[in-house]
Amino acid sequence: MEKMILSKLSYEELIDYILSIGEKKFRAEQIFSWIWKKNARCFDDMTDVKKELRTFLNGNCKILDCKIKTRQISSDGTLKYLIEYKDGLYAEAVLMRFDNRSNLSICVSSQVGCKMGCKFCATGKNGFKRNLEAYEIVSQILLVQNDTNLKITNVVFMGQGEPLDNFENVKKAILLINKNLQISIRRLTISTCGIVPKIYELAKNELTPTLAVSLHSANHQTREKIMPVEKKYHIDELKKALLDYNKETKDRITIEYILIGSLNDTKECALELIRFLEGIKCNINLIPYNPVLDDNNFTRPQKKDMMKFKYLLEASGKKVTIRLERGADIDAACGQLAGKAL
Ligand code: SAH
Ligand code: SF4
Repeated sequence: MEKMILSKLSYEELIDYILSIGEKKFRAEQIFSWIWKKNARCFDDMTDVKKELRTFLNGNCKILDCKIKTRQISSDGTLKYLIEYKDGLYAEAVLMRFDNRSNLSICVSSQVGCKMGCKFCATGKNGFKRNLEAYEIVSQILLVQNDTNLKITNVVFMGQGEPLDNFENVKKAILLINKNLQISIRRLTISTCGIVPKIYELAKNELTPTLAVSLHSANHQTREKIMPVEKKYHIDELKKALLDYNKETKDRITIEYILIGSLNDTKECALELIRFLEGIKCNINLIPYNPVLDDNNFTRPQKKDMMKFKYLLEASGKKVTIRLERGADIDAACGQLAGKAL
């Protein structure tokens, strides 16, 4: 008989299950707390659960049904985990250690591969394999917490996949992260390439995370060349959705903008971006293009162009940060996740 995966169950479902095997409700509370709050790796870690029940759980249940295949450590302390799912597919999770020790951010994958086909992204180049279920997304956090014995405080959906193309599962994962892992919704960020109707839906969700939008160009023609999604959802439509998100959530949006040498890093591009952002409450995150394997079409921007671009945006009154590159030496930086086993 297939084993029951306990991390799949909501709190209420776990209670039902524990009652159905003839145990008392407080046992479910104990087990829930061990899985979601106390980082239990196995049932024998659950020391206050009576031996007889632990033996039953060992025989009939599992906490998770995926595992860490490899762990790579970057020279800057970033950890990249390759997670193996039950069907043998892989997706990455990246743990970013910042100097500020009270903040520990994980970047999670929402799909194996991606359908969106952005020209600059390693994930997009490999095509799409499948959606990850909510518990499979959240398992990435549990596995990394188990491995490091550290409590994760911030979650960003910036690994493999387009979260809003797997919306139902991602919505459930947001709930699990907030309710079960007790991570504040303010510390959760969903990054999207711009699936317009889903941005409207997310604005109406019970929990509204910080929205990050991969814009990369404010010019329709240029954006279309590098991001096929622009053919379906024009940036003018995207702007309306962003204004709506601002209005509904009262939160600032993060605008992500990869700077690619000569393609979108000129003064004209900056001015066009400033015009596009008029009226949108946002911060801007500039990301120097990370070279993706076998890719000679795009180049990194020159430092001086990057600084000029940043200056122009700041002069327009926006807050701009240049994303610190993390883990590039182990292909863990933005756009470098391709689900490769070593
Ligand atoms: N699909 C979502 C989230 C995953 S991608 C999205 O596109 O937003 C996470 C971020 O990495 C996005 O902003 C994406 O545009 C960026 N990215 C992809 N390839 C990159 C590359 N080669 N260099 C720098 N950033 C890249
Ligand atoms: Fe998919 Fe995001 Fe990569 Fe585009 S940048 S291909 S949407 S993962």
